[in-house]
Amino acid sequence: MLIKTMSEILPWFRNANLQLDKAYQKNKLAHGLLICGPKQCGKSIYARTIAQSLMCRETTSLSQFCGKCKACHLFETGGHPDFYYVDKLTDAKGKQKQSIGIDQIRELTGHLVDTPQLDGWRVAIISSVTSMTTAAFNALLKTLEEPGKQTLLILLADNVGRVPATVRSRCQLVIPELERELVLLWLKEKSDCNQQELNQALNASYEAPFAALDFLNNHGASKQKAVFSALDGILQNRVQPHEFFSSVDIEDKDPALLLADYFYHVSSSQLTCKNGDMYQKLPQKMVFQLYDKVLDYRRAQYSGSNLQPKLQIEAILIQWFEIGRKIRR
Ligand SMILES: [Zn+2]
Repeated sequence: MLIKTMSEILPWFRNANLQLDKAYQKNKLAHGLLICGPKQCGKSIYARTIAQSLMCRETTSLSQFCGKCKACHLFETGGHPDFYYVDKLTDAKGKQKQSIGIDQIRELTGHLVDTPQLDGWRVAIISSVTSMTTAAFNALLKTLEEPGKQTLLILLADNVGRVPATVRSRCQLVIPELERELVLLWLKEKSDCNQQELNQALNASYEAPFAALDFLNNHGASKQKAVFSALDGILQNRVQPHEFFSSVDIEDKDPALLLADYFYHVSSSQLTCKNGDMYQKLPQKMVFQLYDKVLDYRRAQYSGSNLQPKLQIEAILIQWFEIGRKIRR
């Protein structure tokens, strides 16, 4: 039977996985793992890989699974009775709730005290541990301490600093090694883009691998052209900052990503003296400052800050407009 190998684990989790597997082989895997890393670095994918490998009947290594046995089949079709994934619920209108509540945790811990449905491991993943209410945290603590035999809790968080110490101290921390070169190599394998495009995507995504991949896959050239043209329009007083969102069709695209891309384009055009007079008149320092502002904003977004995206972006666009006004004088 073909066993999926380590190479399929996201490369930035490989070292962490080696350590976890060592513990697992000695029967000393922690009851609780806390996987912490920025948004869109694949925490959930890795957590699911661990879960499937524990449930697979054909492997004895962590993060390897056959994909063929009954347990794998149940897992992959979402029907494994001993696997639980706790996420924020959506309301009747399809909008995701702000937090994971106590009822969800009570339901989970209720399942975990019962005997497993199949003879094997039970795994529960909690998708965003920092979204849990205080009551939900408290309801989880006892289970985290004594989850029972062959039971693993995997908690995911974007920012370790926001995880309560009581939870942190009961889990083994798992942190990805998001080295730039490693991520660039991975992106290169997944797309047919050149080095400059890969770098650009990674910069614009604040180093988040899956956001960068999404950028490379979905960032159509024509859409980008329209956005760049609207931003040029703001600089030239053809488009008002508040008209930006209605003048371009960016659907579900992250406007900050598009802006980062644009300022990168402007500053690199300045450095290579492309794009004629318009960009050459701009003070380079100001362009860099705005580019930094967008990246700062993305950084805050990725660390889970609740900024109001539209207002933040409009504030940056107003500054862009003001710079335009100065050079038009
Ligand atoms: Zn299997």
